[in-house]
This record gives sequence, C-alpha cells and structure tokens, in this order.
Amino acid sequence: MKVITVIGARPQFIKSAPVSKAFLESGIEEVTVHTGQHYDDNMSAVFFNEMGLPKPAYQLNSGGLSRLEMIEKIQSELVPILEKEAPDYVLVYGDTNSTLAGARAAKTLGIDLVHVEAGLRSFNLEMPEEHNRIETDKLSAILFTPTEEAVLNLQKEGFDTKNYQVHTIGDVMYDALLTFQSRSRWHETLGPESFFDGDFGLVTVHRFENVSDPKKLSVLVEELNAIHEHEIPLWMPLHPSTAKRLKEFNIDLNIHLGPPVGYLQMLWLLQKCKIVLTDSGGLQKEAYFSEKPCVTLRDQTEWVELVDRGVNKLHHIGRSNLSLSISELLQASLDFSWKGYGEGNAAEKISATLLSH
Ligand code: UDP
Repeated sequence: MKVITVIGARPQFIKSAPVSKAFLESGIEEVTVHTGQHYDDNMSAVFFNEMGLPKPAYQLNSGGLSRLEMIEKIQSELVPILEKEAPDYVLVYGDTNSTLAGARAAKTLGIDLVHVEAGLRSFNLEMPEEHNRIETDKLSAILFTPTEEAVLNLQKEGFDTKNYQVHTIGDVMYDALLTFQSRSRWHETLGPESFFDGDFGLVTVHRFENVSDPKKLSVLVEELNAIHEHEIPLWMPLHPSTAKRLKEFNIDLNIHLGPPVGYLQMLWLLQKCKIVLTDSGGLQKEAYFSEKPCVTLRDQTEWVELVDRGVNKLHHIGRSNLSLSISELLQASLDFSWKGYGEGNAAEKISATLLSH
C-alpha cells in the first residue's frame, strides 16, 4: 500500500511524526511531499531534524504567497506528482492551505483522500482555516476524527455513511506528545535557563484574525504588556507572521520574546510554565495534556471540550478581561482526568484502518 502525505506547516510536521512511524512499522510505503508553506529553519527543518521525520521525497516552494495563490500553486504542482506516484491514498492533516491543496489535487485525479483531524469546526467563517476544513472534509473518503464532538459536527452537516467513512481515533498530537516528552529539553535559544525556574506564562499568537487587524493586535499587545509587567512574566516564541505585523504596525510588545522554538523545547516550556495563553489550536490541547490551564485568545475554539471542562477559557479580545481569566484559572482547582483525546495510539489506528481496506 502506498500513501502520499502532503505536509507544509509546523503543526503538520508534528502530527505526522507518530503517523509516519506507524506507517513504517506496518509496512505502508509513505511518500512525503513538503509544500514549502513554512520554510524558515525554525518553522520547518528543526522538526525534521529533532523528530527524525522522513525526508520529503518532493519539496515544493509555496511559501510567502497569498492564500489563493498558494493553494493553486500547490495543487497544480501536486497533480503530476500524484500521477507519477499513483498512490492508493493521499493523506492530509488539519486545516491549512496545504491541506486543502492536497485534497483538491487528490480529487482531481479521483484518488481516495484521507483527512486526519476531520470534523473540527469553529463555526467562524471569517477564518480561512474553517473554509479549508469544511472543503477538505467534503472531498475526503476516510475521515479520522479526534473526538466524538467532531463526529457530531459531521453528522449535522449531513456526512452519510454511504459516501464517507468516519473513524474516531483520538488525537495524533497526544501520540506525538507521549512519544517525545521524555526528550523535552531547554536550549540556548530560549535564553537563560534560570528564568524558567520562576512562574511564567507561555504565550503564542499567530492567527490571521488576531494579527492582521492593527487595532485588535494593539489591544491584545497592551493586555499582554500589562500582565507581564504587573502579574506574571510572559514568554513568547514569536511567529514570523506576528513579527512581520508588529513591525509593520509599529506596535511594541514588551514581554520576553524569542524565535520560534523546536517541539522538544516547546514540550519543556509546557512542563515549566504556570499557564498558557494562545490562539493556536494545537497548543490548547498540549496545555491540557501537560495539565496546565489555558486562555484561548479567540472568540471560539474547535476544542470545546476543554472549555466545557473549565480548564480553558476563551478571551474575547477587547471585550473580556484577560487578567481576570488568568487569575480565575490559576486559583481554580482543575480536573485534567478526562481522556477524550484517546490513549495515544491514534497513529496505529490510522495505519490499521488503511490496511484493513
Ligand atoms: N510549536 C512549536 N514551536 C513554537 C510554537 C509552537 O513547536 O515556537 C508547536 C506547538 O507545540 C504545537 C504546534 O507547534 O505542537 C502548533 O502549531 P501552530 O500554533 O503553528 O498551529 P495551529 O495548531 O494553531 O494550527
């Protein structure tokens, strides 16, 4: 059996690590295409090196393009690769432009599409990711959902069992965390190790909805600056899109900043921090797996289970009080025992399901 995996953005490198390992162990031939959506060493190469990901057989060059240009370029370059490789399946992860481009290319040639992280919805059509998710799910033959909530979303949208196969397998990000946690470590790019012995909040911000609007970004930055100065020190690995916008809009973010870090450092930071403040999808769950409270810097989340369980609070930028959410979470006694993201064997379930077809 041959699978072409299309990856291109940071979270996809992380999600692919356990799945590539499961494919190798179960004798599935995997051919990886890297779309080049993320291309800086600290957004791409570091994950291949540290996590031992298989070297991509094909490297495209789509970085820095607009959403539509990027999707079109990747799709048109993928089609001849798929024709040449003639895989049994094309596999895509999550909700990025690379995900949708891979989905469309597979559909063009009538190759069965496998979507890992299917069924997630924010119900916010302003998010490019929401469009990517919905269309990718529609084009898929096999949909691997991380949660039962995702299955409900698909059912509500009319995904029937005649045309789609839906399998709830748990979250591959949990597999990744369990696999790599024992190798988590400090690295000199983080700055002095002693800083992390004290209390601190781990922050990441990169969503288009937060960084593209100068007013919204200014409000968020003011809130973060005030919390850093008066309440708890904040440490943030700065995403390249956010760095670009801060410069363009001339906004001063006065918290501890570093470059994007590798996954092993991220896992170390998750163990050390008191709280996570993020607009990332993946990090909300990693905070949960690491038993840390999380404030999601967005109006809605795809990971509603965490909000329902009180371990994650949504922060409506400019409309709710970030400082209050942080202190409430830090004072609450939180329960991290819910196991709804699986047992850490989602990757094995993917390979076993594909082999059983
Ligand atoms: N991450 C990382 N280094 C960083 C910031 C994030 O390794 O400097 C990891 C993080 O731990 C998670 C993934 O990248 O596994 C999340 O990616 P991102 O926030 O870019 O995307 P999203 O999850 O929002 O799609």
